[in-house]
Amino acid sequence: MTLTEKILARAAGKSHVEAGDNIWVNADVLMTHDVCGPGTIGVFKREFGKTAKVWDRSRVVIIPDHYIFTADSKSNRNVDILREFVKEQELPYFYDVIDDPDGNWVYDAKKGNLLRQYGSRYAGVCHTALPQKGHTRPGEILFGTDSHTCMAGAFNEFATGIGNTDAGFVLGTGKLLIKVPETMHFRFEGEMQPGVMAKDIILHIIGEIGFDGATYRAMQFDGPGVASLSMDDRMTIANMAIEAGGKNGIFEFDARTKEYVDARCKLNDTKATYNPVERDKDEKFVYELVVDLSKLEPTVACHPDPGQRKKAKDMDVKLDRAYIGSCTGGKTSDFVEFARVLRGKKVVIDTFGVPATPEIVHDLQVTRWGDKTIWEILIDAGVRMTENAGCAACLGGPVDTFGRINQPGLKCISATNRNFPGRMGDKESQVFLASPATVAASALTGRITDPREYLS
Ligand code: SF4
Repeated sequence: MTLTEKILARAAGKSHVEAGDNIWVNADVLMTHDVCGPGTIGVFKREFGKTAKVWDRSRVVIIPDHYIFTADSKSNRNVDILREFVKEQELPYFYDVIDDPDGNWVYDAKKGNLLRQYGSRYAGVCHTALPQKGHTRPGEILFGTDSHTCMAGAFNEFATGIGNTDAGFVLGTGKLLIKVPETMHFRFEGEMQPGVMAKDIILHIIGEIGFDGATYRAMQFDGPGVASLSMDDRMTIANMAIEAGGKNGIFEFDARTKEYVDARCKLNDTKATYNPVERDKDEKFVYELVVDLSKLEPTVACHPDPGQRKKAKDMDVKLDRAYIGSCTGGKTSDFVEFARVLRGKKVVIDTFGVPATPEIVHDLQVTRWGDKTIWEILIDAGVRMTENAGCAACLGGPVDTFGRINQPGLKCISATNRNFPGRMGDKESQVFLASPATVAASALTGRITDPREYLS
């Protein structure tokens, strides 16, 4: 069996499953957020009754992150609906925007969108927050009401996005019917060259198979090249499995996975036991691709989908803005590579920076390079950095969302993960997906630029 099949078999209480089998699996964790949480709660109450209790309080994680820093009252209200449900069900894992459990969330537009407006428990973008807060464990099943839930496959677990109806059912029963996906195999060899990032690996792969090339399939990433990839790198790659239509993305378990997971479970006092899955000799794949990481170059996915692959060095596209952020591209390591290119220079187009979580804001504000923090280096370079960690303009959002593209025709290079028309705002705008290093180099020239030109 493949890694995915082994996890699904175990969660179904079976010794063996194969692609195409329909099986009932037990969920280890169900995650929802402010956009889909209210709908999921509505389905749960309608189907199980107004006084029903969730199947297991300790396995439900609720993370508001999407439409948070906006004056849109309906969006603010979504967070309050989550809080009411958490109180009623006495759920321990709710990363509220405010500290007062009896309060209401109201974004104060008068304070501006750069300075922090959240309380002490707020966790930022769900997929980045889940591992930081100790909710991702090898060998487990994570369901989330968000397509990029597949990011947690970096930790050797089966993680996939589900709709509100399925999530309402999981809330009531802890189970879900799953068709076992076929597995595609991506074997990594070699190491990335300077100026190349994990984002380039996954954009290369999606360019190879197309934005629907992995539809309802597991994408298994392994091979000797994985050893050189950090957990952040693996998260970037697993996150974008869905951009090829994948059911899930999954990495092998190794010492690096163990070190990260153990540290985070301990830090947050979450469940610390888990059972990883290892590779079998008899894995069956429907597709195989060897990726020599040393041969990859800075890569861009052009408008209008993540499969439109080109090399940055071959492009001549004038840009209007640059954006770094999201679960995919807003991690500490992403901002470090972004700042490495921008240090001591000035951007020439509007450039927005949105860390994925408050912890990342903190990292950037305390890590010093010489006499300046990374945060100060980015501000000096002309980047508009917000402390309000969250999804922000990655998916457009209400019109007052920080960094949202509100004019037709604008071209934006972005470290985010999705570029279908209208994704970051106006449906006549164009988004080019690239690594944080490529976004930084392009912000310096106002054109899509290979970051290797700026490596010292
Ligand atoms: S940052 Fe973007 S891709 Fe990630 S969860 Fe938020 S909206 Fe989705």
